[in-house]
Amino acid sequence: MNANVEMPRTMYFSYHLYFFVKARWLFISGAVVVLLIAKNIINMDLPFNELFITLGIVLLYNIFFWLYMRKTNFHENQCCKSEEGIQGWKQATRLARAQIVFDLAALFFLLHFSGGVENPFIVFFVLHMVAATILLERTGVMLIAMLITGMICSLGFFEHMGILKHHHLGNFYGDFEPLKSILFVTGVSVVISAMNICLSLLVYFMMKEIRRHRDTIVLLSEDLAKKNERLLKMDARRKQTMAIASHDLKSPIDAVSSYLNMMEAGYAGDLTEKQLGIITKSISRLKKLREFISDVLDWQTIERGELRQVMKIENVENILSDVVDDYKDTAVRKNITLNYLPADNLPDIMVSKNRLAQVFDNLISNAVKYTDDNGEVTVKTNAGRDGVEIIISDNGIGLSDDDISHLFEDFYRSPRVKKSYDGTGLGLSVVKRIVDAHHGNITAKSEINKGTTFTVTLPFTNEKESK
Ligand code: ATP
Ligand code: MG
Repeated sequence: MNANVEMPRTMYFSYHLYFFVKARWLFISGAVVVLLIAKNIINMDLPFNELFITLGIVLLYNIFFWLYMRKTNFHENQCCKSEEGIQGWKQATRLARAQIVFDLAALFFLLHFSGGVENPFIVFFVLHMVAATILLERTGVMLIAMLITGMICSLGFFEHMGILKHHHLGNFYGDFEPLKSILFVTGVSVVISAMNICLSLLVYFMMKEIRRHRDTIVLLSEDLAKKNERLLKMDARRKQTMAIASHDLKSPIDAVSSYLNMMEAGYAGDLTEKQLGIITKSISRLKKLREFISDVLDWQTIERGELRQVMKIENVENILSDVVDDYKDTAVRKNITLNYLPADNLPDIMVSKNRLAQVFDNLISNAVKYTDDNGEVTVKTNAGRDGVEIIISDNGIGLSDDDISHLFEDFYRSPRVKKSYDGTGLGLSVVKRIVDAHHGNITAKSEINKGTTFTVTLPFTNEKESK
C-alpha cells in the first residue's frame, strides 16, 4: 500500500479510536451499576473486590488512551496532516491493537470473576472481533481471532479442570453446574469461536469494499482540493497582471489622446479634411480602448471587495435621473422615446453613488443601443417587497434563452449583435458585480424582437446600517 492510501485511513482510525474511548466510559458506568445491583440487590456470591479492581484498571487505561490521543496527532473530526502519512497510520494501528488487547484482557478477567463461560456476557468477545476487523489488517485480525479463541478455551477448559478457580453463578444456575459438563465447555468454545470467525469474515469483506470506496473518494477530493488551490493561485496572479497591465496602459493612451485632441483643435497647424477624419476616428477608437481599460480596472476593484467601504445613504432617484438625462440626446438622435417614471417617496438606501451610476449607465446604454430607431425605452422605480426596484425595459432586439443564461459572464456578447453593434461584453458582468456587492439582485426577461426588461433590486437599509 502506498502512503497516499494510508493517510485517509489514519483519519478513519482517529474517529473510531475516539468512539471506543467513549464507548468504554459507557461500559464502565454500566458495569458498575450491574455489579452494584448484583452485590446489593441480588446478593450474588462473587469476588466483587477483584471485579471492581478490574473495572478500575479499565478506567485508568481508558484515561491514558484518551490523554494520549489528545496529546498526539489524533484529532477526532479532522484528518491528520498529509506529511504524517504512513507514520500516522502505523501509530493508529498500534494504538488500535493496544486498545483491543487491553480490552480483551479486561474482559477475560471480568468474565473469569463472574462465572467464566457460564456468563452470557461471553458474547462480548464477538464485539471485539468486529472492532478488530474494522480497524486492523488481515494479520492483525487473524491474531486477534486466535487470541479470542484461546481466551474462551482457557476460560472454559482451565476452569473445568480446576487450573483456574471457577466462580459459580449460583443465583442463576442453582445447584446445576454446567461447567462440570465437558460437552457444555466444548460447545460454548466451539459456538463462540465459530461466531467469531463467521462474523469477522463477513465484516472483513464488507469493510474491504467500504474502505476501497472511501479511499478513492478521499484521494479524489484531496486531488481536487490541490487543483483548486493551484487554480486560485493562478487566478490571483492573472488578476494582478491584468490590473498592472490595464493601469499602465491608461497613461500612454491619455497622452496620445490629448495630442490628437490638440491636433484636432488645430494647435499643430491646419489639417486637410482627410487628416481630420483620420484623427477623429483615432480619438474615437482610443476613447473606446480607454473605456475598456476602465471596465477591466473596475472589475478588479469590485472583485477585491473595496466597494463596501465607500457606501453612503443616497437617494437612488437622484442618481438615476442624472443618468437618464445623459441619454436624452442619444435617444433623440435615434428617435427613441425615453420615459422616466420615478416612484413616489422611494426610501434612501446605502449605496456607492458612482458605482450605482455605472450600473444605470450600462443598463440604459444597452437599452438604447439594442433598440432600433423609433423604439421605446422606459426607466421606472418601485418600492418592492425586497427592496428598491429599478426597472429598465425596451422594445428592442431582445435576447434568446441561451443569451440570458450567459448574460452576466465576462466578455459575453450575443452572436446576434457581434457584427452590427460595438462592445466588449464586459458591461453587464461589471453591473452584476456591483449589484452583488450591494447584496442586491439583477434579473433579465426578454423575448426576441419584442424587447428586454432588466430589474435591479437593492435591499432597503435599516436604521442600524445607516449609522
Ligand atoms: P459593453 O461592454 O461595451 O457594454 P456590450 O453591450 O456588448 O458591450 P454588455 O453590456 O455586457 O456588453 O452586454 C452583453 C450582451 O448582452 C450584449 O452584447 C447584448 O448581446 C446583450 N444585451 C445586453 N443588453 C441588452 C438589451 N437591452 N437588449 C438586447 N440585448 C442586450
Ligand atoms: Mg453594454
